[in-house]
Amino acid sequence: MAELCVSSVLVTGANRGLGLGLIQHFLRLPKPPQWIFATCRDPKGQRARELQNLASKHPNLVIIGLEVANPASIKAAAAKVEEYLGGSGLNLLINNAGMLKAKTLEDETLEDMREVYTTNTVGPLLMGQAFLPLLKKAAQGSPGSGLSCSKAAIINMSSYAGSIEDMYVWDFGQVVSYRCSKAALNMLSRCQSLAYKEHGILCVALHPGWVQTDMGSTGSFKPPLTVDDSVQGMLKVLSSISEKETGAFLDWEGKVVPW
Ligand code: NDP
Repeated sequence: MAELCVSSVLVTGANRGLGLGLIQHFLRLPKPPQWIFATCRDPKGQRARELQNLASKHPNLVIIGLEVANPASIKAAAAKVEEYLGGSGLNLLINNAGMLKAKTLEDETLEDMREVYTTNTVGPLLMGQAFLPLLKKAAQGSPGSGLSCSKAAIINMSSYAGSIEDMYVWDFGQVVSYRCSKAALNMLSRCQSLAYKEHGILCVALHPGWVQTDMGSTGSFKPPLTVDDSVQGMLKVLSSISEKETGAFLDWEGKVVPW
């Protein structure tokens, strides 16, 4: 299987968990991207310490402040990325940032529903809009007519918990606002895939597995997957998908997840 080969990638929520794991793996690729944009809410603060250490050793890693629930922050980040790229496009946008509230159907509130939907669903929508010109530019600059992650792609980090058909791990946690936000994110991914296909941009919803991160470890059960296993699997999937998969909901092993 060919390694993933991209010139530029941007990951949201890159200071910890799966986002940080993705950055570490991109840096370790045999042919690392020329630009890796690691975005997080507090780029200069304590929470971004690991990213700061990595950036001091890797000149191709750029840390950029980005709050996905704030349209002005998204626009400012897109302008900075454009400056760094200096006329080139962005190949890969990974909408990874997300949040979960450990609530049941009974105790969900308007505020929880709003906050989780804004972060997990509206954030990826606005990111897609703001970075569309750079993604289009990357697609135009790549040879060939097919779709691929090396050309231009939006990867929305979804969750099996958003599967309506399966109602994955319901007994471990109802997390209603989270499930609703990810089911809506799946619909968004499908809409993006239809609208952006003509621009040469591949779009998928990706379930990373149940992973040992702060979010994955919210309950009392230890998640089966390490960040490394999940990220390795996801990068393999990203290296192999093409126009056949655009609009699909896949897991970290490339299996189709039921809607
Ligand atoms: P973590 O809770 O470990 O990390 C979440 C990341 O998202 C942090 O970097 C956090 O930043 C960032 N974030 C949250 N809200 C915002 C915001 N408004 N703006 C910018 N950044 C934000 O989660 P994981 O790494 O486990 O999850 C990553 C993605 O994978 C999520 O979308 C999640 O839903 C999905 N997923 C995870 C699973 C798992 O088992 N871990 C299973 C299925 C899906 P900060 O440090 O500032 O809070």
